Amino acid sequence: MRGLIYVLALLAEALPGPGSSAPVAGGNGAVAPAVTLKAEPATVIPPAPATSVPTPTTGAPAASTGTAGGGTVPTAASPTAPASPTAPVGPARYSQDWLTAQLTALHGRYPKLTRLVELGRTHEGRPIWALAIGRKIRRNDPRPVMLLNGAHHGVEVLSIDMVFDAIEVLLLRSTGKRERLPLRLPDGTGPQVREPLLRADPELDRRVKRWLDELVVWCVPVVNPDGVWATQNGHPRSGRKNGRDTDGNGRIDAGDGVDLNRNYPFRWGFLGEVGSSSKPSSFYYRGPEPGSEPETQAMMRLGESEHPAASISYHTGTVALLAPYTIDNVKDPTPNEAWQVGEYLVAGLLPHPQGKPFVLKRKLYSVDGTDQDWYRARFGTLAFLLEGARRDAKDEAERYAIVHTVRPSWMRLFDRYLDGPTLSGRVLDATGQPVVASVRIAELPTNEGEIWETRCRDGRFDRFVPAPGRYTLQIQAEGAPSVEQVVEVGPGRSVLEIRLPAVAHRRACPAVP
Ligand SMILES: [Zn+2]
Repeated sequence: MRGLIYVLALLAEALPGPGSSAPVAGGNGAVAPAVTLKAEPATVIPPAPATSVPTPTTGAPAASTGTAGGGTVPTAASPTAPASPTAPVGPARYSQDWLTAQLTALHGRYPKLTRLVELGRTHEGRPIWALAIGRKIRRNDPRPVMLLNGAHHGVEVLSIDMVFDAIEVLLLRSTGKRERLPLRLPDGTGPQVREPLLRADPELDRRVKRWLDELVVWCVPVVNPDGVWATQNGHPRSGRKNGRDTDGNGRIDAGDGVDLNRNYPFRWGFLGEVGSSSKPSSFYYRGPEPGSEPETQAMMRLGESEHPAASISYHTGTVALLAPYTIDNVKDPTPNEAWQVGEYLVAGLLPHPQGKPFVLKRKLYSVDGTDQDWYRARFGTLAFLLEGARRDAKDEAERYAIVHTVRPSWMRLFDRYLDGPTLSGRVLDATGQPVVASVRIAELPTNEGEIWETRCRDGRFDRFVPAPGRYTLQIQAEGAPSVEQVVEVGPGRSVLEIRLPAVAHRRACPAVP
């Protein structure tokens, strides 16, 4: 039923609260006030003084107490950071105990801003933790979702810091400065290490407030805790991979494991032995079948529930931002708004302390089965992969400098979503119930048969658009006639509520983590 649609309301999406000033625009010719996209301030905050820091370095294998590891995991002697007068002893940085303690402490300190969720368990029994962040966050939260993850590859531990940095900026700057200062995390790093994070910066405070008010940010610092454990303990298997017993000999030993960032189902194994490997002992083993691994499945469940509008997967090894699709001979949507937003992100990244500028690329080498391509194909997520360091940091000062360099990536992504141009909304049926519907934009066609649907629990959709202008929405829900609506998108956020002219078939929604 072309042309028939009920656009009930063009709604401001901003949540209640002072400072929520989302520009609203939308269909029927309403145009939002212009929003200027601003570059990051050029000020570079100097790294924290290395003298005030407990010592574990990222490169050296450090033992873990391994309590979360389940029965199959050997437990090494409990390591501790060398004590300093200001730093109490704690579990080694990046260990499962450290991760759990950090996240638990932050959640305990900011209970109304965070949800701490176990997304799943690894082959070796370690929990895969997610911290969801947003003002007065709740399960079934209606706001748009941003996803940040690290350590798909357990050897790339600096990627964990990159996600933690986002967590700390969002939480430590969420309250007045007086309240921030007493925070001391279980690894002993407290105000002295994070002091640069706490310097007066009213502009950053304003941005943090807006992100907390208007977004839900899901942070998964360690997707592959089994790999991190193997890295820290000098285990003979590759810390790049997870803890699957691929040769089935009853032990996790040399050659075992799956490369999680070759295991996602979109075009899994598409390039044969070029983009990943079918050989279990390979560093790039893609797993026995698409999405076979518990870690991959945990991330996929999160995606199915939340439909992230955008995501960044942090890695290390070089310095680059990758925009989907990564796979050779897989066609991007035309125009490819992900590439355009990627150019905007790269333009704001600071000079890298390891001496190589950030560049935007489609791929580093031929690859298939990555998380960013799956999120993009499955939900239309603007999903990036950021390679944020060429090598491990030699000390705490360099670690902080690298993290600081990478920080604008997620900041600018959040701002670009909120500043627009973006087109968001909810699809409801004739009874006002949210429905799963495919939402196509005729001017932004996909080329690989992707069908991007609304979020089940609330009918939500989110699309970045390349420029203000007229866009033709084509909406199709099971059991209801298809509808089409031309929308005038302004330079800001356009938010629609679309009511279908019939009662649509209702699907059972996936569980919310
Ligand atoms: Zn990696």
